[in-house]
Amino acid sequence: MILPFFLRARFARRFPRRLREEAKVTHREGPSQQGAAYAAGRVLPLVLLLAFVGAASAQEIDREAEYRQSAAVLARYPDVPLPLDTPALAPGRSEFTSQAEMEAYLAALKARVPGLVLGSLGRSGQGRDIPYLLFTKEDLSDPAAVVALGRPILWFIGLQHGNEPAGGEAMLALASSLADGKLTPYLDRVSVVVVPRANPDGAAAFTRSTGNGADLNRDHILLTLPESAALHAKLVELPPDVVIDAHEFSVANRWLQKFGALEASDAMFLYATHPMVHPALTALADGVFRPALEAAWQPHGLTSFWYHTTSYRPDDKLVSMGGNAPGIARNAFGLMGAVSFLIETRGVGVGMQAFQRRVATHVLAAEAVIATAAADPRRLRDTVREARRASAAERADLIVAHRLAVVPVDLPMIDPESARDRPTEVQFQDSRAITATAKRARPAGYILLGDAAAADRLALDTVAVCALAAPAAIDAEAFMLKGAVKRINRESINPDQSVEVELTSKSLALPAGTRFVPMNQPAAAIAAAALEPDSRGSFIGTGIVGLPADANEAPIYRADAAAARSLRLAPPPGVPTSACEPM
Ligand SMILES: [Zn+2]
Repeated sequence: MILPFFLRARFARRFPRRLREEAKVTHREGPSQQGAAYAAGRVLPLVLLLAFVGAASAQEIDREAEYRQSAAVLARYPDVPLPLDTPALAPGRSEFTSQAEMEAYLAALKARVPGLVLGSLGRSGQGRDIPYLLFTKEDLSDPAAVVALGRPILWFIGLQHGNEPAGGEAMLALASSLADGKLTPYLDRVSVVVVPRANPDGAAAFTRSTGNGADLNRDHILLTLPESAALHAKLVELPPDVVIDAHEFSVANRWLQKFGALEASDAMFLYATHPMVHPALTALADGVFRPALEAAWQPHGLTSFWYHTTSYRPDDKLVSMGGNAPGIARNAFGLMGAVSFLIETRGVGVGMQAFQRRVATHVLAAEAVIATAAADPRRLRDTVREARRASAAERADLIVAHRLAVVPVDLPMIDPESARDRPTEVQFQDSRAITATAKRARPAGYILLGDAAAADRLALDTVAVCALAAPAAIDAEAFMLKGAVKRINRESINPDQSVEVELTSKSLALPAGTRFVPMNQPAAAIAAAALEPDSRGSFIGTGIVGLPADANEAPIYRADAAAARSLRLAPPPGVPTSACEPM
């Protein structure tokens, strides 16, 4: 990979004043906003993060000071009567479950239940194992055989963020319930994949980030990390119908600093909100799965609210729903055509306080999702299939940039001493309330020049990449690169800058073997998010596709329908022939 510091040098030379001026307005941009420019001089450090050199800003993300909740507050969050036998919930425990304990727990499960399918997704950056468990009625271990069952495949992922332990602990409890047969009746109708610890290095260090200081949960399109690449390799084999991504949110910290109150909700949740997620998936998430989650929590007095966050700047009182960046797992899985939920419990920065309740909240959610999917697997499968078919058939313009509505909302908060309700009105940026601010005609496909790295990543993103079976001469659209763009991002420590572009027509002589990404495929929106250079966190913007020093043109070209029809395409190994049929 050519390191894209060339971008910085070139843009600094060409656009220094404009970028400096635009940088002044970046503070008004929320995490989901498109369009704020970034000072050219700060692009280099961000790009170096991508190259895994240092991670100074990671400390800011991981600096969740331990907060001790008052006795009155803790009395509001008692244990949930649910038998849970995981390591960190043993009586008298004062430490979270270690990697060794997790591995021993799963090994004991396997010893108890010989048919259990326990495998490894791969290794983390620091060499720790990333186990997964696969549950089918037939105890199948071959992914193709699982897919052939035709049952919905439900994925549960814990501990993408290492300092959010309840999700990972709940995945162990869920695995135990599934292994011991407590949920067996459901396996007639659904298959389940459990990943207890997606970021084992972060868990070992109790940091949000991975071992090299990156945010795993912003890397689901770029796949620069061994952890995300390992996860996606299995996701490609076992395409999800539902993904639950289990996290925890900050209780006090910034909320106390800005609003003088604590977060009240036991759980926060949000489905995929990227504007190109198919509305039928959103309707199913909002209309069927959300009520099921609430119904599972309510009898235990567990409260919930839309997932939201706020920046680390004390003067910035804006509260934002989880953002719309495509690289967030919740959004990436939605763009792949799955019902996708982020579920968070009330646990960052408070150590082991109320840990049983936090774990139980995730366990109840997971069981509710399995029960809901199993109650009507056909509706789920049909909705997912139709969403994927419709995404492949979609011809509407791409949404290149959008803004979000900001509305006043009463946040459920509590007094830090008395624990009394203290609903607090805030300005709330709603990631579901999208207004497109820039659109662009959808191409019929993208031509990828340069090395194979981009195509390999797209394949892990479930995007089919074809090859030209014969040389071709076509008129295409070229992206002329105009300037680097970086959004202020409250949560992400990964680079997610993009590049301003201008489209221009260009005649191309393409040799046989040239890679072509057709847009008449279910993952078209992921292809566009990765390949349009001005999409947030694009391959060009983040340097995944490197540029030579003097380049002012991306090695990615857009083909319209006429140009695409003139191409003879062949599927490379592993790509279904149907993906590369003439358009
Ligand atoms: Zn998290």
